[in-house]
Amino acid sequence: MKVLVINCGSSSLKFQLIDSESEKCLAKGLCERIGIEGSMITYAPEDGEKEKTVTPMPDHTEAIRLVLEALTNQKTGVVGSLDEIGAVGHRIVHGGEKFAQSVVIDAEVLAAVEACNDLAPLHNPANLIGIDACRKLMPNTPMVGVFDTAFHQTMPEEAYMYGLPYEYYQKYKIRRYGFHGTSHSYVSKRAAEVLGKPYEELKIIVCHLGNGASVSAVKGGKCVDTSMGLTPLEGLMMGTRSGDMDPAIIEFLAHKEGKGIDEIMAVLNKKSGVLGLSDNLSSDFRDLEDGYNAGDENAIRALKAYCYRVAKCIGSYVAAMNGVDVICFTAGIGENAPLVRTFVCSYLGYLGVELDQAANAKRGEDIAITTPQSRTTVMVIPTNEELAIARETVRLVK
Ligand code: ADP
Repeated sequence: MKVLVINCGSSSLKFQLIDSESEKCLAKGLCERIGIEGSMITYAPEDGEKEKTVTPMPDHTEAIRLVLEALTNQKTGVVGSLDEIGAVGHRIVHGGEKFAQSVVIDAEVLAAVEACNDLAPLHNPANLIGIDACRKLMPNTPMVGVFDTAFHQTMPEEAYMYGLPYEYYQKYKIRRYGFHGTSHSYVSKRAAEVLGKPYEELKIIVCHLGNGASVSAVKGGKCVDTSMGLTPLEGLMMGTRSGDMDPAIIEFLAHKEGKGIDEIMAVLNKKSGVLGLSDNLSSDFRDLEDGYNAGDENAIRALKAYCYRVAKCIGSYVAAMNGVDVICFTAGIGENAPLVRTFVCSYLGYLGVELDQAANAKRGEDIAITTPQSRTTVMVIPTNEELAIARETVRLVK
C-alpha cells in the first residue's frame, strides 16, 4: 500500500509518500508559508530532481491540493492517480490521556483531539486543519492519527505527576506527557532489532537530540520516563528552549525586565537554550562545533552545558530502570554530531562505556559506537518518524 504521511504545522506542511511493502519513500516535500505571502512548495521524487515552486497557498486545503497534484503530475509524479494512495497517516502532537495508541480518524476522534487543543495550542489546531483539508480532498481514503504523546502513556504515575496541588491534575490534566514518542518508539525497537536481542528484555535510553530534544527510558519495550513534560519546554536544554530551570526565574525576570508572561515564555521558547547560552552565536550545532574547534568561549560554554544535561538525564534514567543495556543517539544532533556524543559519553565511565572513535565518526548508519568490550552499548540509530507513522497507518487500516 502507498501511504501519504502528513506532518502539518500552523504555516508549514511536510509530506512523504511511502510504499509500505518496500518501506521506501517514493517522494517527499514541504509546503512553507501557508497563508502568508511568498508561499512555496518543495517536491522531491525519489529518483528525480528536487523542485521548488513559489505559488499562492491561502490555506492548508490549497497546500494539500498542490501536494496531491505534485504526486500525480504526469511528468514528475510518482502515482498514476489518487486512487493509488491507500491511506493517509497524520502526525498529531498531543493526544492527552485519551490516546495511548494510534487510531483510525473519525468524527469522535477529531472531537477528542480538539479537546486536547488547550494542551498544545500551537500544534493540535494545525494538525486538525491538515486532517480536515485531507478529508475534503480524499473523502474516501482512510486516515490514521499517530500521536507524539502516545508512546509515553505507559509512564507510571510517580513519573508523570508534578509536585503541584492534585486538584490541578483533576481539573486541567496538568501532568507530564512527553513528546517525540514516535521517534523514541521507533529507535528503541530498531536498536533491539539491530542487536538481535528481545525488545521485551532490554533497558534502553533514547536521546532524541534535534531542534527539540528529549530523552526517554524504555524498559521491556515500554516507556517508563521521558524528559519533556506538559509541554516540550521541559527537560534538556535545546536549540532555543531553556529546558528545566527554577520556575521562580519567571517572576524574577518579570520584575527585573518589566516583561509580561507571554514575553517571558517567548524568551524561554525562542531565545534560550544553546542559542541564548552561546550569547546568540547559534542554535545550530554545526556552528557550535565550528566555534568549539576555533576556541570560541560562547560555543564552548553552550556545548558543555548541553552535554552535561544530557548525561545527567541519562544518569537519572539508569536509576529509574535500575540499570541500562543500550543508550541510543538519534535526530539531527544525535545522528550527526560526534563531538556531542563524545562529550556525553565522557560522563558514562561508571557504566563501563568505551567509545569506538572510528565508529563514532561514521554517519547515517544503525551502528554501535562502543567497543565490543564496552559494558554498556551506545548506538546511533537514525530516526524515521515518517516510516513509523506509515507502519502504524498500515497496521490500523488493514
Ligand atoms: P527537528 O527537531 O526540527 O526535526 P532535526 O532532528 O532535524 O530537528 O535536527 C536539527 C538540528 O540538527 C540542527 O539545528 C543542527 O543543530 C543539527 N545538525 C544537523 N546536521 C548536523 C551536523 N552535520 N552536525 C551537527 N549538527 C547537525
